Amino acid sequence: MKTLTYSKCGLPAMKVEVKGLGVKCSECGQEEAVIELKYARKKLCSNCFTDFFVRRVKRTVDKHRMFGPKDRVAVALSGGKDSVALLDALKRAFPKQDIIAFYIDLGIHYYSDHLRQKVQALTEKVRVPLHIYDLKDREGYVIDDFLTTKFRSKMCSVCGIVKRAVFTQMAKEIGATVMATGHNLDDTVGTMLSAFFAGDFESISRLKPVLKPLIPGQPKKIKPLFNTPEVEDLYYVVLNDLPVQECHCPHSFGASVSRYKRILDQMEKDNPNVKFQLLSVFLKRLVPMYERVKETEKENVSIEVEACKVCGLPTSSPDRVCSRCRRVALLKKRGGQKLEITVEELEKLEGRIVLIDVRSPAAYEKEHIPSAINVPKEVFEENPQKMARKLRRKFGRKTTFVTYCYAGRESYPVAVALRRFGLRAYSLRGGLEAWKEYVSVASKT
Ligand code: SF4
Ligand code: ZN
Repeated sequence: MKTLTYSKCGLPAMKVEVKGLGVKCSECGQEEAVIELKYARKKLCSNCFTDFFVRRVKRTVDKHRMFGPKDRVAVALSGGKDSVALLDALKRAFPKQDIIAFYIDLGIHYYSDHLRQKVQALTEKVRVPLHIYDLKDREGYVIDDFLTTKFRSKMCSVCGIVKRAVFTQMAKEIGATVMATGHNLDDTVGTMLSAFFAGDFESISRLKPVLKPLIPGQPKKIKPLFNTPEVEDLYYVVLNDLPVQECHCPHSFGASVSRYKRILDQMEKDNPNVKFQLLSVFLKRLVPMYERVKETEKENVSIEVEACKVCGLPTSSPDRVCSRCRRVALLKKRGGQKLEITVEELEKLEGRIVLIDVRSPAAYEKEHIPSAINVPKEVFEENPQKMARKLRRKFGRKTTFVTYCYAGRESYPVAVALRRFGLRAYSLRGGLEAWKEYVSVASKT
């Protein structure tokens, strides 16, 4: 039995256990089946599932003419299950294609390094060249810096804008004519449904599996997994032993599953085809209808797409500065501010300080920094906003909160969450261990 506990951006951990279903595979009739695909009425063994997955990717690419033999295809790797499965399946489906991978090191503390190691291991395993774009080295800032701006409550949206811009920029730098991303069926239909209820048909039309470049010289964007159910990406990764992310992004701490994804999962229990049916209605009916209307409107209103004055990427903004550059400019005005402090810096903090031990009550009882209160990480995770409000009410607006755990890794996302809800918070670098060392050195001198 193979198991994997998988943490995805913005979602609680998903646990997958691959075990025999007690019946033979419906394809080969030899091996024991390990996965049931209700919509296809199949129960497949590990090898037949991998073949099925790769065949679907190949069919999708061919059907939508996503790329040709002369294209250089860049796969945007995040280290998450979707892009990991995409790279491996593309390489198997098109072994002779010029495929390269790229990864953006977003500088998210305790997270980006972990992903960097995973994508390095993956690209070595599948023998695909890897290009890394280090945000700090190349642009002088990291995603965590946006916590000091008004975007602190919309970190994933800022991160998405930065990633999209860098991907486009990178694809051009490395001579890629096509850029592939790992959007899966659940992401696509979930976003379509939420945009539909908001009446945002423009966003729905952007979810098409192939997007032509807005201005010449930009890569074409493709989504070869747009019709692959999310859970199958995870099975593919587990069954093929591919290196994949194993920890949360601190900015997704306390986030919940999108309402529409939850509704879709519920509907799928009654109708295993519902996600495919919705995808087909959106792409075959709604999007063409909307595009026809847009064509007619274009005669009266034309939206100009021009190159951004700062970075040169396409933008339709009237001042010709794209969304990424507008956000980064704000960051430069504010200057960086760290989220982690050392014990020495803690000692020098002024004003009211509240130390929060985020470990379990048992660990806290055993040993803690004098004067620290105990609020386990799980309590924050349940509802970080509620906890932030409680702390502000109890200790006042001007208090500085310093979170800590054993070594600093667990308390960092808690400090990030408190910042998101407007509190002045830091995490203690090295945690209790660093504090004990500091005290023992101080007592000897
Ligand atoms: Fe994902 Fe973290 Fe970026 Fe949000 S901030 S999109 S959770 S990497
Ligand atoms: Zn720009």
